[in-house]
Amino acid sequence: MAVWKCGECGAVAEARCKPGKCSSCGVIKDKLVKEETAKKEK
Ligand SMILES: [Zn+2]
Repeated sequence: MAVWKCGECGAVAEARCKPGKCSSCGVIKDKLVKEETAKKEK
């Protein structure tokens, strides 16, 4: 699982693949930044 953070609204979403857009504000995926999940792995 990777965590994707929206650079526009700051919402985070967990997904294996990069989402097509932010599920919160709907911005294009170019604004989504991958964050390493250093915490617990699922
Ligand atoms: Zn967003």
